[in-house]
Amino acid sequence: MSRAIAVVASLNVDHIVHAPRIPEPGETLMGFSTSRELGGKGGNQAVAAARLGAEVAVIGCVGQDEDGDEYLEALLAEGADVTHVRRSASPTGRAAITVDAEGVNSIVVVSGANADIPAAAAAAAINELPGLRVVAGQLEAAPEATERAFAAARSRGVLTVLNTAPADDVARKLLPVSDVVVANEIEFRQLTGQDPFDGHGLRRGGAELFAAGCRWVIVTLGAAGCAVLDASSSTHVPAVAVRAVDTTAAGDAFVGALAARLAEIPGEPTTAAVVAACGFAAKVAAVVVTRHGAHPSLPTSAEVGDAGI
Ligand code: ADP
Repeated sequence: MSRAIAVVASLNVDHIVHAPRIPEPGETLMGFSTSRELGGKGGNQAVAAARLGAEVAVIGCVGQDEDGDEYLEALLAEGADVTHVRRSASPTGRAAITVDAEGVNSIVVVSGANADIPAAAAAAAINELPGLRVVAGQLEAAPEATERAFAAARSRGVLTVLNTAPADDVARKLLPVSDVVVANEIEFRQLTGQDPFDGHGLRRGGAELFAAGCRWVIVTLGAAGCAVLDASSSTHVPAVAVRAVDTTAAGDAFVGALAARLAEIPGEPTTAAVVAACGFAAKVAAVVVTRHGAHPSLPTSAEVGDAGI
């Protein structure tokens, strides 16, 4: 894979606590261990695509702090283009993550510098980057920057992929400039009020999103795989059966792998090509859930092959 992708990206430092379970409100719980890692949905998506061999440019913002230095160095080490990552006076974004004994996580994100990506610069970056095939974004980075970048991409015929994570009403504003929408179960419920595990709910919710302007809707359903919808059909893509130890970055790896595969498609993608790309993304995400952490869990193409899944 070598086609060009831009990710309008949140870049966070994750502070992770491993605990027997997620604490109740007001409860103090004794945990097992702590760790500190680079993460952020956008950064994870960008690194996922880069490790799979895609040419990746990151559009983002970090603070003028050590976390920011570290993140830029890490992106460069992955071979990503960081020309369009700015530094602002705000601190680099941070996340507090609790992972329970079953590998299920709960996350609080403080945006910091991620909120400072200038919208005009994000659009200008899209117009400057050569050979761009896909632009991906999520809702942790400044939404105006994502909206302007997607609008610029659309006017260049570049495919836009919106991951509606974390669940936020701002997603609605971005639907008209998004070709592919990737929502998990919670985000789909929040956006449409429909149950994606119910066939009618899935189609009704999908129809609502298509009416807002997108062309494909992918609903990820954890260990149950994902559903790929276009205006007239719905296809289930199963997950790969593995023993999950930590689901951190599963959705991000899925989006990064999807973007990397979609960038390989010459011209307009067909629904069959989107379904095939989701099959590949499911394999990549399956490897991720068998490993701990965000960046450390993201595989190369060779590792996906070696995993035999
Ligand atoms: P998010 O992490 O955004 O909540 P999901 O939990 O839906 O997203 O996971 C995204 C994708 O990762 C799924 O569609 C599936 O392919 C894969 N995945 C997630 N959990 C598992 C699991 N336990 N086993 C295998 N694959 C998984």
